[in-house]
Amino acid sequence: MAGVSRLQYRTETKLIRVMCSGRVDLEFVFRAFLNGMDGVFIGGCRLGECNYITHGNYHALNMVLLCRRIMEHIGLNPERLSIEFMTSGEGILFAEVMNDFGRKIESLGPLGTSDDIDEGALRDRIESVRKLIPYIKMAEKEKLESRLKKEDEYDGLFTVEEIESLFKDVISFYIDPEKCQACGICLRRCPVEAIEGGKNLIHIIDQDKCIKCGTCYEACPPRFGAIEKITGEPAPPPVPEDKRTVIRKKKE
Ligand code: SF4
Ligand code: SF4
Repeated sequence: MAGVSRLQYRTETKLIRVMCSGRVDLEFVFRAFLNGMDGVFIGGCRLGECNYITHGNYHALNMVLLCRRIMEHIGLNPERLSIEFMTSGEGILFAEVMNDFGRKIESLGPLGTSDDIDEGALRDRIESVRKLIPYIKMAEKEKLESRLKKEDEYDGLFTVEEIESLFKDVISFYIDPEKCQACGICLRRCPVEAIEGGKNLIHIIDQDKCIKCGTCYEACPPRFGAIEKITGEPAPPPVPEDKRTVIRKKKE
């Protein structure tokens, strides 16, 4: 409506249309920051007025509340991310909100500057969060799907302590080379091809690709029990390639 009515709003804004505000993922926000955006604004339909049964705007709100906490955790000013709800007919409101947000971001300065983080460190912090997004979404699934009734509930949905422990107790999965029998079940079930292996080869998990879904942990047959879940510390390094042959014990 703002465009049709020829309302002016800040020209540095880049609009990305999505079918529903609920489509905006944590990944999109951090990718925007990595791509040089100084602020991200999400506009959604008014809460409770979704035309569909999905109510994606509640999901968008929860995602923003979670994302803001994560931003705080990595030292970014959470005010760089904003969400507002309005109807498509409220062009004047949209233009006002965009102008206010633009002024806010201008006063904060380029990303990292007001946050006192140099560019390299900022990039590293955002990249390490991006790797954990599937894990964070799984860990916070229930809250991400909840529907807050009142604004005063916003602050309590995700707490600083909760986000700190989420990052401190991050999980990893590790294949014990002494127990792996190269059955290949984990490799076939992994949704992101993070497991390497082959016939008679001890399987290993590529920790950079692993999204910590736990599928392999559930799938490894109990008689082998080769996959360990590790909390709060990194997985041990994988066995060297020349030592990956499975040595099976002979039946007596
Ligand atoms: S935890 Fe999930 S993503 Fe990671 S290796 Fe296992 S199946 Fe693959
Ligand atoms: S499912 Fe278990 S035993 Fe089979 S290859 Fe994977 S880790 Fe090894």
